[in-house]
Amino acid sequence: MVITKPDFDVAIIGGGPAGSSMAAYLAKAGVSCVVFERELFPRPHVGESLVPSSTRVFRDLDFLPKMEEAKFPHKYGAVWTTDDKKVPYVHDLEGLAPDCNVDIRFDERQQAGVDKNHTYHVDRGKFDLMLLQHANKLGATVYDGIKVSAVDFGPKEPLVRFNMGPKEMNVSARMVVDASGRNTFLGNQMKLKVQDTVFDQYAIHSWFDGYDRKVFAKRDVNLDYIYIHFLPISNTWIWQIPISDDVTSIGVVTQKKNFAKSKEDREKFFWSSVGTRPMIEETLRKANRIRPFKDEGDYSYAMKQLCGDRFLMVGDAGRFVDPIFSTGVSIALNSSRFAHKDILSALEKNEFSRQSFATYEDTLRRGTKNWYDFITVYYRLNVLFTYFINDPRYRLDVLKLLQGDVYDDATPPVLEKMRKMVTEVEQNEKHPWHKLLGDLTANAFTQPSA
Ligand SMILES: Cc1cc2nc3c(=O)[nH]c(=O)nc-3n(C[C@H](O)[C@H](O)[C@H](O)COP(=O)(O)OP(=O)(O)OC[C@H]3O[C@@H](n4cnc5c(N)ncnc54)[C@H](O)[C@@H]3O)c2cc1C
Repeated sequence: MVITKPDFDVAIIGGGPAGSSMAAYLAKAGVSCVVFERELFPRPHVGESLVPSSTRVFRDLDFLPKMEEAKFPHKYGAVWTTDDKKVPYVHDLEGLAPDCNVDIRFDERQQAGVDKNHTYHVDRGKFDLMLLQHANKLGATVYDGIKVSAVDFGPKEPLVRFNMGPKEMNVSARMVVDASGRNTFLGNQMKLKVQDTVFDQYAIHSWFDGYDRKVFAKRDVNLDYIYIHFLPISNTWIWQIPISDDVTSIGVVTQKKNFAKSKEDREKFFWSSVGTRPMIEETLRKANRIRPFKDEGDYSYAMKQLCGDRFLMVGDAGRFVDPIFSTGVSIALNSSRFAHKDILSALEKNEFSRQSFATYEDTLRRGTKNWYDFITVYYRLNVLFTYFINDPRYRLDVLKLLQGDVYDDATPPVLEKMRKMVTEVEQNEKHPWHKLLGDLTANAFTQPSA
């Protein structure tokens, strides 16, 4: 009898941060793996501001020197701004007055395994190409410009199908990793996707040359922070992300119901939203837009399962949560950090049942649940977020979440405290914050996943 060996140990669909970091982890461990990426890099991509938990992955993969060589702007912290000076002072909540503009530095809290006081803002075209090339250099095979069309799961090893020109081809692998981003390749094929009915935000964004970031920086050190500008339109905010000394990425995130259908109306919406913060509009009008506007929509979803027999999902392919806290790339990288361990052990035991990947699934679900709860509190009661950041009793606990350290604690005490305060405000109509409650009424503490 002839025993045929599969072509690869692991086949990875998608070469974004999740797929290329997975390939790099596996190749570094000597595993034969292949990445299929449908685009030819570099290509533009949304998601340009990282959080510090990404550093652990860069360090594991010996990629930090390349991040420094690339001269991506260092991100030392974050600022949240609003024009609204009318937020009521609350005496009866044993705390401080909520400030309308708050900022935080990452190095205020030590993070195990993160020895830098900054993370990065990245041009995703360049960053994604660098990470994919790094995986290739470590030994991963990369097929770029190749779109996977199907994966056949049968009694034997899965077959990954794709076209090369007019020719239909396939490769076999002992297991498949879906890293196809919001395309959610396996989630769609296997009907595992659950749409989040509450967080249905849309975004419109572009790059601007000459936007004067000094207008908002209280100090020079704040210049390269990410800025989240709250708008006086409900559930709407702007990101301001430095891409280089001169170029800034600006995006408006809003709810689907506010989002116009036609392209022209969307651009009008962008400018009218920006116009609700006159200082931002004035500064932006003096700058030059150097890319077409791009919109992104229909997001926030979960999967009924993140793993199964001979497959698992990493990054956006498994879960997407609203980007208010710049979490996506960090989740993508860290999902590969956690998942590759289960994969190595599965390969060694030659045992690829869903159960083999349970540690990964539990860890990732814990982390994304914490993000989701945090985001829900934020949308329900913005002021609570700034209040907690300003209060020295909670500041570092909130910072821990903002740094991306969300995986170790099933219910972080600071989220419990926030939950109690939201309930208090919801139940007391006379509470000075009651009228500030947002209209996204998700039960903050349940997930839309099975
Ligand atoms: C409006 C908005 C703002 C955001 N802001 C931030 C932010 O500031 N910071 C942050 O960290 N994150 C942010 N994100 C999230 C971030 O974009 C993603 O979480 C991150 O890109 C996920 O990485 P990934 O590798 O999982 O997916 P992706 O980066 O999307 O990579 C998936 C890759 O798979 C490829 N692919 C898809 N289907 C196939 C196929 N069939 N065959 C072969 N290849 C395929 C795609 O071409 C793509 O290159 C934002 C997202 C949105 C929508």
